[in-house]
Amino acid sequence: MDTKIPYKIYLAEDEIPTQWYNVRADMKNKPEPLLNPATGEPMKAEELEQIFCKELVKQEMDDDQRWYDIPEEILKFYKMYRPSPLVHATFLEEALGTPAHIYYKYEGNNTSGSHKLNSAIAQAYYAKEQGLKGVCTETGAGQWGTALSMACQYFGLDCQVYMVKCSYVQKPFRREVMRTYGAKVTPSPSMTTEVGRRILAEFPDTNGSLGCAISEAVEASRSQEGYRYELGSVLNQVLLHQTIIGLETQTACKKYGIKPDILIGCAGGGSNLGGFAAPFIGEMLRGEADYKVIAVEPASCPSLTRGKFAYDYCDTGKICPLAKMYTLGSQYIPSASHAGGLRYHGMTPVLSQLYHDGLFEARSVKQTDVFAAAVQFARVEGTLPAPESSHAIRVAIDEALKCKETGEEKTIIFNLTGNGYFDLYSYERFNTGNMSDYIPTDEELEKSFALLPEVK
Ligand SMILES: *Cc1c(COP(=O)(O)O)cnc(C)c1O
Repeated sequence: MDTKIPYKIYLAEDEIPTQWYNVRADMKNKPEPLLNPATGEPMKAEELEQIFCKELVKQEMDDDQRWYDIPEEILKFYKMYRPSPLVHATFLEEALGTPAHIYYKYEGNNTSGSHKLNSAIAQAYYAKEQGLKGVCTETGAGQWGTALSMACQYFGLDCQVYMVKCSYVQKPFRREVMRTYGAKVTPSPSMTTEVGRRILAEFPDTNGSLGCAISEAVEASRSQEGYRYELGSVLNQVLLHQTIIGLETQTACKKYGIKPDILIGCAGGGSNLGGFAAPFIGEMLRGEADYKVIAVEPASCPSLTRGKFAYDYCDTGKICPLAKMYTLGSQYIPSASHAGGLRYHGMTPVLSQLYHDGLFEARSVKQTDVFAAAVQFARVEGTLPAPESSHAIRVAIDEALKCKETGEEKTIIFNLTGNGYFDLYSYERFNTGNMSDYIPTDEELEKSFALLPEVK
């Protein structure tokens, strides 16, 4: 195709995909089911419906239906901030002097600042459909809580957010955005839940973790009539909603004849990478194409590169179902790194299974190297990236520099999940040379693995 590729590719409104893609339909080895922590048996739909909305449980358990129509009301909301641009990073290519072609899908161009809004609006919609009063959730860095407050406000639902304590302290303005959209925000662990009080009694100085905040939000949702819990990553349903990213990317690539060789995404719970890469991995599973897909995780929380593929609790308080995933252990509390959105001990079961089956590779990177890439990117491309997203930038730059050595003209696409406007405390640490790298020792990880639950 000889259509000239613009710097920013914006699809037209009527080119926004109208279906989500369920990669499980194309997987030969399906992800293992969630287990009831009390009985060790697969969770039944009725049990999951005590925690999540009904329609979302259906999506969670469906390994067969390949395409899901996106409801009209959700498509209408998507138009507020989608399609998101696919940007040809020509300034970065020039600065690196690489023959590689680098593109990034930019998901940071909405008020929540990240891709999380793609699933938040879907989850709020199904809660509203079910006639619920409100939802409870956790937030790590704050992006998910912000996204869900926006979505709940749109549908007139109450939104209660447990925010990991270190983020609550570091990012007071995130909290204010959530409150502006009507959410109630509580730092976690807190004294408002039984599990919060238990964790605080054991670890009075804890900075909190996503695992603790999840336990609190689940407990809060179960103790209030007409409430359910919603989660911004890890679950199959979240990956499903996030495929809007990958499908839009494919549409843009087709339109301009772009053929990616390498696809890169950062990985916390796995939702952005899953949503971005799943449609491409689907082509691989069906034998239609081949791509090199790379997950990038922080060296401080390396679930794919150093974790175990095992059944584990999804939360620190051990009240959630067990999931078979790559995990560092539910009792592992990562150091207070500056990529809050990547501080989760496990990885979504879908990506865990695909990784186990060799469909993509994973790398871990140190945070000082990540911020060096973030600054380099910001200076040439203009956009200030979120620290989480900058993990993908790091590896995209590394791959482009390899092409410079070999002279290969590879096409690299990475997912730029969010903007860094609320991460300036972290940028300050980096700019003043006060950022350190924390990498857990094998002994620390072994201690955590020893606490993995026994599952027959
Ligand atoms: C939450 C978040 C992530 C990580 O979550 P995934 O579920 O792994 O995608 C990455 N980037 C940003 C900007 C986030 O907000």
